[in-house]
Amino acid sequence: MKKRILIANRGEIAIRIIRSAHKLGLLAVVFQSDKEPDALYLKYADEIIPAHDLLLDKPIFLDMERILSLAVEHQIDMIHPGYGFLSENPDFAALCEAHQINFIGPSPQLIRDMGLKTVAKSMAIKTGLPLVPGSDGPVPDAATAKVFADKIGYPVILKASAGGGGRGMRIVEKPETIERNFKSASDEALAAFGNGDMFVEKYLQNPKHLEFQILGDKYGNVIHLGERECSLQRKHQKILEEAPSASVTPEMRQQMGEMAVRFAKSIGYYSAGTIEYIMDEDGSYFFMEMNTRIQVEHPVTEIITGVDLVDWQIRVALNEKLTLKQEDIKINGWAIECRVNTEDPQNRFSPQTGFIDKIHFPVGDNIRIETGVQSGSIVTPYFDSMIAKIIVHGDNRSDVIEKTLKALYEFSLIGLKTTVPFCRTVLQHPDFVNATYTTRWVGHVYKPEMLENEEDELIAALTATIMYASEYLQLSSDVPTYKNDTLNVWVLNKRLNY
Ligand code: ADP
Ligand code: ADP
Ligand code: MG
Repeated sequence: MKKRILIANRGEIAIRIIRSAHKLGLLAVVFQSDKEPDALYLKYADEIIPAHDLLLDKPIFLDMERILSLAVEHQIDMIHPGYGFLSENPDFAALCEAHQINFIGPSPQLIRDMGLKTVAKSMAIKTGLPLVPGSDGPVPDAATAKVFADKIGYPVILKASAGGGGRGMRIVEKPETIERNFKSASDEALAAFGNGDMFVEKYLQNPKHLEFQILGDKYGNVIHLGERECSLQRKHQKILEEAPSASVTPEMRQQMGEMAVRFAKSIGYYSAGTIEYIMDEDGSYFFMEMNTRIQVEHPVTEIITGVDLVDWQIRVALNEKLTLKQEDIKINGWAIECRVNTEDPQNRFSPQTGFIDKIHFPVGDNIRIETGVQSGSIVTPYFDSMIAKIIVHGDNRSDVIEKTLKALYEFSLIGLKTTVPFCRTVLQHPDFVNATYTTRWVGHVYKPEMLENEEDELIAALTATIMYASEYLQLSSDVPTYKNDTLNVWVLNKRLNY
């Protein structure tokens, strides 16, 4: 009997995991959410469990009790959480264990420890990982935060210990504003993560975000697969990633990678994981946090190392031994990932919802597309705005930049604005070409006027409007209908808006 793997996620990552499941001879089971009843990933699954989450306050992907009761009812053997949602929730991993379902990821205790940045930092320092100067542990109140800030010097960054996805963070430029910022960040963290604990770090003014991919098994073997550079961020969230990083020398790679492995071994880590570092302008680097899940940007590592990280996550969960040794890991060429988010780069990356009338992806030997949508899909307001990823492999950095740019010119989407024109601008900017860009680039250098072909975007928008108008007038029967009335009303309103 084939083992049954349930994917507690949606979008492109659900399809990505189904691919690995099939490769390993497993049956892939997914949920159908009423908030997205026609999603593309449903077409790839072997079995669909209707979630009936229409009237529930949260989508199925966040509802751990319901996930577990449906999983038991449908005789699920393993659960893959993907990223986001419950992927870093220790209670969810523990609940899976309690129901004898194999959670694909590290142990609940490891997820719990690494989920609190202050705990992770206290464990990291024991194995010699350098930390950003700061309070290290949580501070009880704004007054204590101020004592640390006065000592390390402004600006500082207040960070929520339980934070993630760029939330619960505030930059404080001067002592007068620390109290207000402390309160708003702590309140935000309490609401989002159920934990308002805050700590203080020196705010690095112009840093790079570098992260090391780790892979470990349950027998104490751990390797690293080199670094990714994810300095291109908006709202503290990544938007374009590359591997390797032009700012990491072979010596640094070895040193940072060995430190990451030593740390992972010291905590008994298994499964895929990421050690995030922040690097200052003088080249000094510090441990920032550890993510205990597969990351959005994992394909760039897969492309340059030839290692399938999702396969390995599943195999490790099935108690397989890691057959890869550190010396087997070789870096081949360069890879870039562009996130296709339905966001308007002209307008502070505000999320866009509505119809994808037509979408066309570039094709080529060196191009990998991970998508959760197709022509005719709807981007609803219920989920994240990332709809696809375009990943390109080149012989070296300049080759991959050229090939990625070419791929992006081949991409088209009619109906919604995306981050693709933004990525095209980035790839042609000297700061990116020279690899001097930092996490401040979007905030300090990027201006919407830098987007090229604004007319093209306008023409696309106009074409879409005309298409909608004519379609709506002649063929109102063409308006998609769903079993879900809320979504129907939303779809109709959306159409009438055009
Ligand atoms: P999250 O859990 O939200 O990913 P991180 O601690 O990884 O939180 O930080 C997210 C981003 O915020 C980093 O990639 C970086 O751009 C910025 N950041 C975090 N800490 C600092 C710091 N001390 N100085 C400057 N930027 C920082
Ligand atoms: P990473 O460190 O892996 O890049 P990010 O914080 O950039 O992590 O990405 C996680 C983001 O993905 C979060 O903003 C989350 O809201 C979003 N997300 C979670 N699940 C999905 C999904 N299935 N499809 C698209 N986006 C998702
Ligand atoms: Mg992070």
